[in-house]
Amino acid sequence: MNDTIKMTTPLIAAEAIAKSYAKGEHKVPVLRGAGLKANRGEFISVIGQSGSGKSTLLHVMGLLDSPDVGEVLLQGQRIDNLNQQARDQLRNHVFGFIFQFYHLLPELTLLENVMAPLMIRYSMLEYWRRRHEIRESAMDMIGRVGLGHRIRHRPSELSGGEMQRGAIARALVGRPEILLADEPTGNLDSVTGGEIMELLNSLNQNNQLTIIMVTHDESIAAQAHRIVRLAQGRIQTVAHEEAA
Ligand code: ADP
Ligand code: MG
Repeated sequence: MNDTIKMTTPLIAAEAIAKSYAKGEHKVPVLRGAGLKANRGEFISVIGQSGSGKSTLLHVMGLLDSPDVGEVLLQGQRIDNLNQQARDQLRNHVFGFIFQFYHLLPELTLLENVMAPLMIRYSMLEYWRRRHEIRESAMDMIGRVGLGHRIRHRPSELSGGEMQRGAIARALVGRPEILLADEPTGNLDSVTGGEIMELLNSLNQNNQLTIIMVTHDESIAAQAHRIVRLAQGRIQTVAHEEAA
């Protein structure tokens, strides 16, 4: 592969994704040929009405779910059809996820929550060997999201904004290339949501983190480089002026 082709291959691409859910005896199509490509370092917002399939598309792109039809490509290589073990590996190494309701584990401290993806990555023995390095990585990431003073707190002792910062630290501790964010400000007031957006923007700009963010808030969406809309199961391009 020559350099020109490499440079134009998207980091991640969903191509002609179709997916239906069974509802009683009927099949309800959610995605009908949805396509979305992101280049390295891009920050894309996906908007669309509730129930339009935004979460489904994000789950398919991050290998949390499989398409009925279509392909997911990572740097031009198909990944949606890999075996379970390879998909688990990619999920742990390449993708970070954040969600509207944070999904931190309530019985673990913030530090333990952020260490968890690296504990999963290694065997027990390897984890034991690397435990200091893993702790340092987690501490570093927690510091970057501004929660260095909260490491021993449990999620119930954190505010919503702090929980989302913690979830971002957990998503990024394994140095993924792509952050998939599903309504990350959906449960936060506008000031706190704005702070989370500032954090995502700085991670995007300073670390070249590629971000695909689902939101139904158009003023939040407008902060990305590019906005697309999911409607009738397909992705449509949206001009910035139109969305703002
Ligand atoms: P959005 O995130 O845009 O609100 P979703 O992707 O969550 O939309 O859902 C799209 C549609 O698919 C909705 O009608 C929803 O009820 C349906 N759906 C989503 N997940 C499932 C599932 N696991 N089983 C059945 N139906 C589902
Ligand atoms: Mg959703």
